[in-house]
Amino acid sequence: VSVSREDCVALDAADPLGAMRERFALPEGVIYLDGNSLGALPAHTAAHVGRVIEAQWGRDLIGSWNTHGWIDAPLRVGAAIAPLIGAGSDEVLVADTVSINLFKLLAGGLSLRPGRRVIVSERENFPTDLYIMQGLRDLLGDVVLRVVPHGEILGALDDSVAVLLLNHVDYKSGRRWDMAQMTEAGHAHGALVLWDLCHSAGAVSVDLGLCNADLAVGCGYKFLNGGPGAPGFLFVAGRHQAEIVSPLSGWLGHEAPFAFDTAFAPARGIRRMLCSSPSILAIAALEAAVELWAGVDLAQVEAKAGRLGDLFIALVEALCEGQGLLLSSPRAARERGAQVSFAHRHGYAVMQALIARGVVGDFREPDLIRFGFAPLTTRYVDVFDAASALAAILREGVHRDPRFGVRAAVT
Ligand SMILES: *Cc1c(COP(=O)(O)O)cnc(C)c1O
Repeated sequence: VSVSREDCVALDAADPLGAMRERFALPEGVIYLDGNSLGALPAHTAAHVGRVIEAQWGRDLIGSWNTHGWIDAPLRVGAAIAPLIGAGSDEVLVADTVSINLFKLLAGGLSLRPGRRVIVSERENFPTDLYIMQGLRDLLGDVVLRVVPHGEILGALDDSVAVLLLNHVDYKSGRRWDMAQMTEAGHAHGALVLWDLCHSAGAVSVDLGLCNADLAVGCGYKFLNGGPGAPGFLFVAGRHQAEIVSPLSGWLGHEAPFAFDTAFAPARGIRRMLCSSPSILAIAALEAAVELWAGVDLAQVEAKAGRLGDLFIALVEALCEGQGLLLSSPRAARERGAQVSFAHRHGYAVMQALIARGVVGDFREPDLIRFGFAPLTTRYVDVFDAASALAAILREGVHRDPRFGVRAAVT
């Protein structure tokens, strides 16, 4: 192999993002390459959430909705996420979960394109995206889903399409769409383009504004480190905010919730996509995490994600030659998210053996071992050690131990 462990130590020493890792509380002896499923815990989150619980909820009680800005938390934290995705500060809202936000924006997208009832998406989508589309179709009755293989998306577009829904980065392969090109392709047919940013916000460059994107959803608990089940976020371009209709017309999306009117009238701006009382404690954890991004150069994040992935591919292919691994991610960094997957016929057992050695990635059906390289927490030396551990396991046949074949509920 042309890269040594010492080279990786030197890369870490020269890494402009290297100091960010100290802002996280990572356990000793673990190489965590699953920040794409559950981001690591920021070091100050527990203290921050503790203060919100004790000083705000405990002491100031209900007055905190006003005095501590609880009522504006969905917009305030949305505004903090906005620069990470190239959105304006009044275009992002933190609320609900990814699936629920998809439901709201798919229905909202249909409301912006009266007369059109077709939603186009790709078969390789994260399943919840498919399930939510199916549920919406069954509810509305007249919606047509055109779900086609990745390579057939352009051919599926025509002037009957209301919404094109794409996962910017594919959760399994890490394949990344060209956002500008695909948004333009949708617009050429008068369709709206809805981006699922779950595997790209906080991982690679995203510029919704530059791409002229219409709608987007994203995840709070993956690369944004908001904690297990953290609220998600949604984006509605300013130009659509006056017209879009949320199907979940809850009281906090009303123009005057405390007027307690009997009829729904939507709030102005992005607030109309809000439904219910915000989960203040969960948003507090997400807010603490998003604070870490202030001052982070996103071009460095994109560059580091690419370099970590390139390094891992090179090391694995060199160290594990002939061991039955097949790269299932794009080789070119700009066509990939901050993750790399390899197929192996005993993928599940291989990943369990890795986890037992302290290298935490995950497994995705049917045979993929998946490694995430969260740019704020992953070191080059981690990549080196993970590839070395993978090589040792395959060489020694450690994964053949029957205990590594037992499936858990969460893979
Ligand atoms: C992680 C992820 C989700 C998660 O959905 P929740 O409703 O928040 O559980 C949805 N879509 C994609 C593409 C994801 O990667």
